[in-house]
Amino acid sequence: MLVTMAEIMNRARAEGYGVTAPNVQSEDTVRAVIKVAEDLNAPMIIDVNAFIHPDLPWFIQMIRELSELSPVPIAINLDHGKTYEDVILGIRSGCTSVMVDRSSLSYEENLEQTKEIVKIAKALGISVEAELGHVGMGANYEVDGVSNLTEPDQAAKFIQETGVDCLAVAIGTAHGRYKGTPHIDFERLAQIVEACGDTPLVLHGGSGTGDENLARAVRSGIQKVNLATELVVAGKEELVEFFKDPNFDKWKLMPTFIKGYSDRLAHYVKLFGQDGKAWTR
Ligand SMILES: [Zn+2]
Repeated sequence: MLVTMAEIMNRARAEGYGVTAPNVQSEDTVRAVIKVAEDLNAPMIIDVNAFIHPDLPWFIQMIRELSELSPVPIAINLDHGKTYEDVILGIRSGCTSVMVDRSSLSYEENLEQTKEIVKIAKALGISVEAELGHVGMGANYEVDGVSNLTEPDQAAKFIQETGVDCLAVAIGTAHGRYKGTPHIDFERLAQIVEACGDTPLVLHGGSGTGDENLARAVRSGIQKVNLATELVVAGKEELVEFFKDPNFDKWKLMPTFIKGYSDRLAHYVKLFGQDGKAWTR
């Protein structure tokens, strides 16, 4: 069942659990994500990057069809829409949510460009995620982990002025692999949650952040956790074992990768308490 991301996140907010947002790369990973959601009776957010497929409208249409056939609620979110064109392509392709990532720009530019997209998306019944503060790269964690963190009062003002459905916050996570140990600013998160009222919050850079940190973040008011690197690494680890056998079964290549990817995703679905939370119309 295809739903908006706002519907999934508002329920998660009200009921106090988190939702995984795995990045998909192919039909195999899309099917894997939907199967995990169905097996665990969980709502699910599928994150799609604009660059991941040479024919995004086709790719999104395929995800829409599989989601519509599924009994569990699924939202399709364009992840990191960096340009106006990317976001419009996501909307036109059939995403039920778009992320407007203007976090590298000034506050004023971020505000103005996010507002522009909110106006379009709201008219079409599509949810909008924006980012304030900037979640950087794990490879540059010494600098990115402590700079451009989200200011609570500014976040509240940004939500009010833009009308976004949810906000990605920078509290010490980073994209990709961490160089060093992640340190999450939970005090800041508490202040953001307090300042932002009922608006659901998003955490990018879930991979490698650790179960304890992520479970605590969800308990503290994060409703969506983006996961990309760690799921792929889990798939790769299964493949490393698989290739140790010189007579490996060539037909089992993708299922082997998918097993690692799916098991890791299922682990987080349970950790965030989203299992059993699917609903029907
Ligand atoms: Zn991200």
